[in-house]
Amino acid sequence: MLFTADHDEPRRILQKFIQSDINPHVDEWENAGIFPAHDLFKKLGDLGFLGLNKPVEYGGQGLDYSYALMMAEELGAINCGAVPMAIGVQTDMATPALAKFGSDELRKEFLAPSIAGDYVACIGVSEPGAGSDVAGIKTTAKSDGDDYVISGGKMWITNGTQADWICLLCNTGEGPVHRNKSLICVPMKSKGVTIARKLDKLGMRSSDTAQIYFDEVRVPKRNRIGEEGKGFTYQMVQFQEERLWGAAACLKAHEKTIQNTIDYTRGRQAFGKPLLDNQVIHFRLAELQTEVELLRSLVYRAAEALVAGEDVTELATMAKLKAGRLGRELPDACLQFWGGMGFMNETLVSRSYRDSRLTAIGGGADEVMLGILCKMMGTLPGGKK
Ligand SMILES: Cc1cc2nc3c(=O)[nH]c(=O)nc-3n(C[C@H](O)[C@H](O)[C@H](O)COP(=O)(O)OP(=O)(O)OC[C@H]3O[C@@H](n4cnc5c(N)ncnc54)[C@H](O)[C@@H]3O)c2cc1C
Repeated sequence: MLFTADHDEPRRILQKFIQSDINPHVDEWENAGIFPAHDLFKKLGDLGFLGLNKPVEYGGQGLDYSYALMMAEELGAINCGAVPMAIGVQTDMATPALAKFGSDELRKEFLAPSIAGDYVACIGVSEPGAGSDVAGIKTTAKSDGDDYVISGGKMWITNGTQADWICLLCNTGEGPVHRNKSLICVPMKSKGVTIARKLDKLGMRSSDTAQIYFDEVRVPKRNRIGEEGKGFTYQMVQFQEERLWGAAACLKAHEKTIQNTIDYTRGRQAFGKPLLDNQVIHFRLAELQTEVELLRSLVYRAAEALVAGEDVTELATMAKLKAGRLGRELPDACLQFWGGMGFMNETLVSRSYRDSRLTAIGGGADEVMLGILCKMMGTLPGGKK
């Protein structure tokens, strides 16, 4: 059993916080193209939500992954995809590797203030020339005495214009591409870090997304997470939580889209009856609700396995793939039943249509998920018979 009575209280507090402190501001933040990350994260940090499954020594709650999953699912009640994503970057994308593999000193310096909500974190993997092909990144961190000197650039970095530090994947050696990388905590105020531009996007509009350059940025070697050369492996571990988070956060968001569509089509008359009374509409909505429930089962199964300490690469990859597919299908199907109103920016269904499109691309595109699964199944050309 994944959830117990112990999950009820934090769930209720988070639900209340979303309704009182987030949803009333979402339209304003979406219009502004940014939300106040430091202000919001401090409040979430004070409530203990930025470190539910992080070690207590660094201010976390020391709970198991089921609490992080509960949080990801509840964030789906926020009236946009952008703010949940920014929070997810802080809790489940930029900090898991640091929490697991970072030195005590490094966790005190970067993890503790991120859990407290004093620091905003971001994760720097993708580059202008390498997104899906993570092993092909070009940013380098050259050894110079006790320091690394970092040069290169990162692209599409969520929270990038507001972040205090970046969990940066870079090449620290010349060897094989899966064994020459390291994850390094880089303060964004370091000399040589430039936020080249804030990117204009189709959706996720209140989340800031940056292109960042690193020009001979000097950081001490003690800022490296874990062992040199293990960065690719650590990032693959970190991706498991990122991908499960992406699948979990869409569940309630999609249910809200279905419910809003039921309400709208029940009230909208056409040809002498409510739109909802057409079987093609209510059957389709029932089918979509079934898809959400199926995805939820897969996500919960993966989370249970993670709590049990198992490798969830296959289940998390499948969940991310299904979430990506559903993110394209569900808002599109629902938007259709809103007619012209579905095309208006003032309706949540149009925002969901724009925001949900990212799930099939960010954190590894659908095709990358299929590649991982094929590798595990041995069906790639030359794979095991
Ligand atoms: C809003 C937003 C926020 C993001 N936030 C972050 C962040 O915080 N940190 C970060 O590091 N990155 C972030 N990203 C980057 C994101 O993870 C990448 O965009 C994603 O991994 C895909 O990489 P790419 O865009 O370079 O696509 P490419 O690698 O250029 O691939 C393009 C397309 O080709 C197809 N494709 C790729 N590989 C294969 C294959 N092997 N077989 C068949 N088809 C294939 C896929 O359809 C893919 O979408 C963000 C992106 C966006 C849009």
